[in-house]
Amino acid sequence: MTELKLKEQGNGYSLGEIGALSCFAGKVFAKDVLNLTSMELSVGSLAAGEAVPFVHSHKQNEEVYFIISGQGVFTLDGKDVEVKEGDIIRITPMVKRTNKNTGSGAFVYLCVQAKENSLEQCVMSDAVVEQ
Ligand code: ZN
Repeated sequence: MTELKLKEQGNGYSLGEIGALSCFAGKVFAKDVLNLTSMELSVGSLAAGEAVPFVHSHKQNEEVYFIISGQGVFTLDGKDVEVKEGDIIRITPMVKRTNKNTGSGAFVYLCVQAKENSLEQCVMSDAVVEQ
């Protein structure tokens, strides 16, 4: 399994490294390594024919999966939804979910989870642009 390593930490930032995604295998979570406070971020990779071996839902966090490479199927409350590289899927907390690789190569995805309805500001309503 690939690891997320803390490369550098400075005043107001944490820099992690997992290496080339083409060599990535398994799943890593970033919250503890990077000291995330408002979200969890993970990278997952399933080999050809591999499936997540459980179904789960969440108590309060929505999830967004961004498919980086390959193709797969998310089963959401029993409904199969096909996804492929470049797709982004949001799943609300209560939906029972699992996913599997349906392609011939690695199925790699980024998953962000954050408390549903907690976003108060974003993009230009939160950015403070300096000259
Ligand atoms: Zn989850």
